[in-house]
This record gives sequence, structure tokens and C-alpha cells, in this order.
Amino acid sequence: MSSTTRSTPRAPIQLSSKPAGRASPESRTACIRTFGCQMNVHDSDRIRRMIQDAGYAEVQHYEDADLVILNTCYVRENAVDRVKGHLGELNRLRREGRVKKVALTGCIGAAEESATLKQTYNIDLVLGTHNTYELAEFVGLPTMRETYTPELPGTEGGHNAFVTIMTGCNYQCSYCIVPTVRGRMLCRPMGSVIGEVERLVAGGTGYVTLLGQTVDAWRHEGKRFCDLLEAVSESAPRVWFTTSHPSNMEDRTLRAIGERDTIVKRLHLPVQSGSDRMLKVMHRGYKAERYRRKIEVFREAAPDGTLSTDIIVGHPGETEEDHEQTLELVEDCAFDAAYIFKFSPRRGTEAAALPGAVPDAVVQRRFLEVLRQIEQNAFARNQRKVGGVEEIYIRHGSTEDGKAIGETWSGHAVHVKTDVAPGNYVKARIEGAGPHVLYAGEPSG
Ligand code: SF4
Repeated sequence: MSSTTRSTPRAPIQLSSKPAGRASPESRTACIRTFGCQMNVHDSDRIRRMIQDAGYAEVQHYEDADLVILNTCYVRENAVDRVKGHLGELNRLRREGRVKKVALTGCIGAAEESATLKQTYNIDLVLGTHNTYELAEFVGLPTMRETYTPELPGTEGGHNAFVTIMTGCNYQCSYCIVPTVRGRMLCRPMGSVIGEVERLVAGGTGYVTLLGQTVDAWRHEGKRFCDLLEAVSESAPRVWFTTSHPSNMEDRTLRAIGERDTIVKRLHLPVQSGSDRMLKVMHRGYKAERYRRKIEVFREAAPDGTLSTDIIVGHPGETEEDHEQTLELVEDCAFDAAYIFKFSPRRGTEAAALPGAVPDAVVQRRFLEVLRQIEQNAFARNQRKVGGVEEIYIRHGSTEDGKAIGETWSGHAVHVKTDVAPGNYVKARIEGAGPHVLYAGEPSG
């Protein structure tokens, strides 16, 4: 976790040396490039299974691919420019006979301007987020509508898997394009989620993350998110969920995080602002005091747990007083981490047309003030962990310096000196702490 601005990972335009026209129907290849959030990463896993079922070998470079699939993000304005750069490059490769077909999926595919992109860049197939399954037919799989529904599991066999439990969002936050491109909330039946979790665990998965835009808004046939979380926590050895909305977060869910041994004690609860006035302008649907109360319940339920949030600085109309209230809330909640966004207008959102733009220099100052405060809090909280022995789940194997990246049950990220493979646990003493990460010594077991 880190206190930082979140940016869309840049997918490099990679080239290699496939001779023009090499591919044959018997040896078809496909390259998937993913932009944006965890939901897109998960959707790409589903796409990956489709192309593999259709007999495509996955390759990493555009020039090695007969089919290129860009699974796109629309959250930031420059995300579209980035994808345009890739589409231009793909057009060139197509003219040279290297790449045969290009498909564009994900949030840009669901947006209005996808029609213009399709025409300008000769894209063979454009799909939104709700009809990704149509890609199956495009790659030559029959009757995929039944098989490739939003309920289809994505990742199997990995130590760590994401399980989508809902898609879309029923909120209308002023700055967010998600409801436009992902549509209204659709919840997956409980039996389907549990079935997938059980299959994953039987296949060796040790860590399940439940995913959704407003994951805690999940409900189905009288069951609410906490019921689902409790059921999953009985089937999986390690469970987390993201992203939550404060208006949907029930106290019993917060208590379950503290009580259930298999749930990681880490809560990501986006607050966006500490000012009631701004929360209203943003249509967030709660007041700062209600948010504070939720955090009190969480801290009481899981005193050792970690709390992260999202904060937007410089939303149109944000005054110095609003900003001061955000700083007060940051102080009160003592976040362990935060994703701090400098407001950038997103075409198609309400906020893009609002008056009261905040000058860049002011946004930058406010950003640094929030960041500094978050880091001070996080550093002080992390220091308290030094000297303790923690059970650490290894998420990523060791790098050249011999350190793996793991996670404690309290949700802290840890660098630990071990070559143990991802998916395993080690016990080690915490020897140091920074604002973003803990540092552990040699594992003792
Ligand atoms: S709740 Fe989240 S996904 Fe839904 S509109 Fe607001 S910011 Fe966007």
C-alpha cells in the first residue's frame, strides 16, 4: 500500500521481430494488453481463458500476435490518448501484415467515442464491459453466451485469485465515469460465488479477493454483503475485498473483519473529502461524521488493522475551508495509506462541467499537505509494528536483492528476506518500518 497518486499503469508498446505473415490457423497467437483497474485485470483473465480455449497461444508482443486485444480503461482523460497511441501502432503493424486483427474491450469500448475510434483505427471488434462474452464468438468459440457470462470465473490455479461478485454501480458521483461505462449494479448469486471460491481453493488458491466497484453493496435474494463475506471466509483460507462504499458499509461487516480469522484486517474505504459541503457536491451520499463513526467501529473491531482511503483534492468548488476539513478528517482517521487524486475533469461526468476550477498550484499544495499528513500518520502507526513477530503471506517472490513482498494479517505490506515461493507463509520479526512498508528480518519458521 502506498500514499500516492494512482495512475493507470502504462502498457509499453513492445516490438519484436515476427516475420510478416508468419501466423497460420493452426498456430494462432494473441496478445492481451490491460489498462486500468483491478476489475480490468480480472476481465483480462476471463479473456485469456477464451482465447486459450479457442486455441490461441498467448504472446507478449504485438508483432508476435495475430490478434491483439486492448482491454481498456476510461477513468482518466489521458487513458484514451494512451490507447490511441497503441491503436496507431497497431494500424502500422497491420499494414505490414504482422497483426491481423484488433479488438478493443473494456470501458472505452462502452463509451460513446468508441464508434469514432473503431472507424478511425479500423478496429475489427469493439465490446463494452457487459458483452465481453461476444469476444468468444469472434475467436471462434460456439455458444459462448451461456458459458462466458459475468459469472464466469477468471483466475484458476494461482495462489491468489480475484472473484467478481458484482459489476456496475448505482451511485452517480460527480467525477466518475464508471456508472456510464459499466452500467447499474448487477450482483452475482451467492451460490455461484461460493462455488467458484470452492473450486479455486480446491485448485490451490490460498488467497481470494472479492471484487466489485461497490463490493459492499452486494445483495441477492435477501442476503447482504456480510452474509457473503462470512460464507466465503469459511471456504477460503485468506480473504479480502475491495472497493467499498461508506454508505453500504455495515457495522457487522466491520466487526466480522475483526472476528474472522481468515479475513485480512485491512479496510479500503474511499472517503474523497472531509467536507460535508463537498461530499454533497460529489453526491457521495454520506457526511464526514458518519464516515468517522464507521472508522471508529473498524478500529475497535480490528485495532491492529490497516485502513486506506481515496481522497480527491481540487474538485471544482473546493475551498480552503473544505480542504482544512479534509485535513482534519485525515488526522482523526489516522489512515495507514491513501490514494490521493488531483482532480482532473473527465468528459461525460458532471464535475467536468462544474464552475469553480481550482488553480493547479493550489491543487498541488493541497495534494502535498494531504500526502504529508497521511505519511506522518502511516509512519507513526507502522513504527508500532517494529519488534513484533508476524505471520506473513508471500505475495511476490524474492527480487534480486533477495527480498520477497508479503502481507501480514493486519494488511501491512512487508519486505522480507526469503526465497519462499508466493502463496506460502513465513514468520519473521519486523525490524524496521517506513511510511509505506514494513521490513522484516530472516524468517524463523
Ligand atoms: S461509487 Fe465509486 S464507482 Fe460508483 S460512481 Fe461513485 S466513485 Fe464511481
